Amino acid sequence: SSRDKKYKRILLKLSGEELMGQEGFGIDPKVLDKMALEIGQLVGIGVQVGLVIGGGNLFRGAALSAAGLDRVTGDHMGMLATVMNALAMRDALERSNISSRVMSAIPMSGIVEHYDRRRAIRFLKGGEVVIFSAGTGNPFFTTDSAACLRGIEVEADIVLKATKVDGVYTADPMKDSSATKYDQLTYDEVLNKKLQVMDLTAICLCREHDMPVRVFKMNKAGALLNIAVGNEEGTLIEES
Ligand code: UDP
Repeated sequence: SSRDKKYKRILLKLSGEELMGQEGFGIDPKVLDKMALEIGQLVGIGVQVGLVIGGGNLFRGAALSAAGLDRVTGDHMGMLATVMNALAMRDALERSNISSRVMSAIPMSGIVEHYDRRRAIRFLKGGEVVIFSAGTGNPFFTTDSAACLRGIEVEADIVLKATKVDGVYTADPMKDSSATKYDQLTYDEVLNKKLQVMDLTAICLCREHDMPVRVFKMNKAGALLNIAVGNEEGTLIEES
């Protein structure tokens, strides 16, 4: 049927900004509830879901550094921000009766469990949503890179990157009305055209390990489920 899943296991990347809703900072629980609902639909058809959430709604190392903080300290704050977002998301998932776990790249005993790849895979197989927090655990990386890294590690079929626009465009569609959307791109096209999809580290990691990435708009009801059952949404990046 049209509701048969295309993917067995996915890695969903949400930016921190997605969690803000209409606010300029922080977390909007209403947005989290909406996302939990969409994620629940995937779990409902048997898709295993790994989740990486950014921290940009709270802190970004580069921005803190521009404001005068030490960069590495700022990155540590950014990674801690992703743990807070992960806790809030787990809370929303649990309130929707979706079992979930938070793992952290940085040990944080008593709050979340430490990332362990084999345990993560076991939880995913058991139908639990696993939220990978604290990014890669290293400064100078992004949560996009963390999403691609974890996706590759846990052998996800695809990385789904949620953005504000519904795919990758020739130019920023918010600024340029003549911008058109790509349905499909190769990693090299993303790199050569300097398309602002993900940072270089993330794209190169995916290219190196043949991990497809789909960029789509999360804030479009049903889009996530649509992708999970194999319909076209947004832009697919993979080797041609
Ligand atoms: N960060 C880091 N290492 C990582 C992942 C994240 O140092 O592996 C820090 C970095 O300062 C980053 C912040 O955490 O700016 C929040 O992550 P990101 O900017 O990727 O969040 P998003 O833009 O997706 O909300």
